[in-house]
Amino acid sequence: MTQPENSLQDRLGRPLRDLRISVTDRCNFRCVYCMPRTVFGAGFRFLPRRELLTFEEIARVARVAVRLGVRKIRLTGGEPLLRSNLEELVALLAALPGLEDLALTTNGSLLTPARARALYAAGLRRVNISLDALDDATFATVNGVGYPVRRVLAAVEAADAAGLRPVKINMVVKRGLTDQAVEAMAARFRHTPHILRFIEFMDVGTANGWDPAGVVPSQEILERIHRRWPLEPVAGPRLGMVAARYRYRDGAGEIGFISSVSQPFCSGCTRLRLSPEGRLYTCLFGSAGTDLRTPLRSGADDTALTSLLSGVWRDRTDRYSEERAAAPRRERVEMFRIGG
Ligand code: SAM
Ligand code: SF4
Ligand code: SF4
Repeated sequence: MTQPENSLQDRLGRPLRDLRISVTDRCNFRCVYCMPRTVFGAGFRFLPRRELLTFEEIARVARVAVRLGVRKIRLTGGEPLLRSNLEELVALLAALPGLEDLALTTNGSLLTPARARALYAAGLRRVNISLDALDDATFATVNGVGYPVRRVLAAVEAADAAGLRPVKINMVVKRGLTDQAVEAMAARFRHTPHILRFIEFMDVGTANGWDPAGVVPSQEILERIHRRWPLEPVAGPRLGMVAARYRYRDGAGEIGFISSVSQPFCSGCTRLRLSPEGRLYTCLFGSAGTDLRTPLRSGADDTALTSLLSGVWRDRTDRYSEERAAAPRRERVEMFRIGG
């Protein structure tokens, strides 16, 4: 990763390198750990369209962020592929000089072969696809809408065939819900080019009924897999990397662990987040964020936007996951509003 000339750092000395853009708060799934149906039912009001940033507004913020040091952008949501013509935004972002990596996180439900090819053609290079189990009964309980596993697997293949490689598969491990699927998932993606990543169930937002008892520490999963298929760590840069990487000793591929609860990685967290309505968050567990839409819509020029963004980053002190045990429960933005 090239180092920007004027390295902007937060109060804990962390540079700005990643921007995660949530393009919509809507989703066609109701995952129990994210948007449980009991809370996000028919009466729930999502953001009206006029409140969403336009693609041009998002691209302006991204351009300023890239000038300040961002090298990786990930599009997420909600379900980002629900936003129509997302390819147009991808093309605007792919054209930003200095950006090295453009990726998308999706539940895969709208990732047809044609859409995957269109996204690749627009400049997208990688996707993460979420899948928590291989049996329809468990997966339906997780996604809340009875969505079948085979269609997500088809999306994985569509992405790979379009050149969006390597596809990373995000599996949230929640005790009593998906932890029994760990070995089957590992077996399914061994000997494929796809990289399975186990994500600890996190206390994002306030609606998912998080309880520490639901967290399966990554170490436990690592040991379970290692007993069946011996693993060894993959060396790599730590700054900005959320996943600890391992490879199968028999050459069957790579897996990753995202251990935000048991092994927090705040000291290397280089990530800024932009919500669909244009608020900037400096932590996944943030509460209020900083409004960018008002300045964007009242004629702020790039100099003003640059000083707003850099001020937000310079003032950053977030290290929620490292403080989790001691931190009092407080209001937090929901994950589908700022992306995973
Ligand atoms: N809808 C897209 C998807 O599901 O891939 C993108 C947005 S989703 C919020 C991003 C990621 O966050 C998904 O991989 C999802 O599994 C993960 N996620 C959601 N709630 C979570 C939680 N409570 N703990 C850990 N991961 C979570
Ligand atoms: Fe939707 Fe993704 Fe949240 Fe599931 S995890 S409800 S697919 S935003
Ligand atoms: Fe970054 Fe906040 Fe997560 Fe820590 S808790 S890694 S600061 S997003």
